[in-house]
Amino acid sequence: MKRIPVANAVLNGNEKQYVNDCLDTAWISSNGKYIARFESEFAEKLKTQHALSCCNGTVALHLALLALDVGPGDEVVCPTLTYIATANAVKYVGAQLVLADCDPKTWCISPTSLESRITSKTKAIIVVHLYGHPVDMGPIMKIANERGIPVVEDCAESLGATYNGQMTGTIGAIGTFSFFGNKTLTTGEGGMVTTSSKVLADKMRLLKGQGMDPARRYWHPIVGYNYRMTNIEAAIGCAQLEKIDWHLEQRRRVASTYRRHLEGKPGIELPTEASWAYHTYWMFTVRVTGANAERRDRIMQELDRNCIETRPIFYCMHQMPPHYSEEKFPVSEAVSASGINLPTFATLTDDEIARVCAELVKAVESVP
Ligand SMILES: *Cc1c(COP(=O)(O)O)cnc(C)c1O
Repeated sequence: MKRIPVANAVLNGNEKQYVNDCLDTAWISSNGKYIARFESEFAEKLKTQHALSCCNGTVALHLALLALDVGPGDEVVCPTLTYIATANAVKYVGAQLVLADCDPKTWCISPTSLESRITSKTKAIIVVHLYGHPVDMGPIMKIANERGIPVVEDCAESLGATYNGQMTGTIGAIGTFSFFGNKTLTTGEGGMVTTSSKVLADKMRLLKGQGMDPARRYWHPIVGYNYRMTNIEAAIGCAQLEKIDWHLEQRRRVASTYRRHLEGKPGIELPTEASWAYHTYWMFTVRVTGANAERRDRIMQELDRNCIETRPIFYCMHQMPPHYSEEKFPVSEAVSASGINLPTFATLTDDEIARVCAELVKAVESVP
């Protein structure tokens, strides 16, 4: 039986042609035409002013917090239910990580929980559009704007998703993106920061390029970083971006096919799509009703035995050693314990989805 992976990069456009162009011309490092092209086309796609490429999505978060002058003595609120990189970036700048619980429907940061975590030391808020479902940005921006706190949108999983028609990554002060191999679009490794502010864009450009003065070569007014993307990565990005609509359509097809097979199946809860949301389904994710992590893991093992790879929903940040805390976040803990990411990628066929669903239904019925 053919094994179905949980994710798969799909490079079916001009990727090879553009990469070969880099090789043929020897523009393989972090200068070259594809970088500027990828950045300007990305900004255009998002309808924002500035997009700056960088070497991954984790670094994008680091650049965002540095540009917002977050440092020791400051607090940053972020959801406990996210990928580790979101929380790690807060530690990189020496700030205090303050966690918030998630909403039971969207699994994204709960505005009520966020509000209860804000203090006079809160310097920034990071929200995460988890698995491609946008955060409820209206209430979040109201809370943030009333207090003058900037919002960073971690859009690593939400490229193309919209909140009331507005692209994620263009609502807060800064948006951050990842192009890791399993993301909606990939460059192998890669990232992007977006902003409508020239001041923030200039700061991030300086930081990512070793802090070199743009008007004076080899003069470095600050301690910067080498967080640049290569021209080869950007070449892949240009080809991927040409087909973004196709990539998004395919993920929507995968999600609606999953829904058709799983709707009404006992013990399986499907992800929601809020009325104001355009969900891009980076990962089609289900919850096993009432399951604890042990039972969920046994169900995943059963699927694995049947050649279907899945992933657990992220572990909560407060449950892992680097960010451990005795605080309780009941919604995030329940979602994290009972959630399974099912295979989701653009070339997953309807027959493969049917096979995943049949095995999932069987496993949920049979695994105690
Ligand atoms: C993938 C991801 C990142 C980090 O991106 P990398 O490119 O792997 O560094 C950050 N945040 C979230 C929510 C992610 O899913």
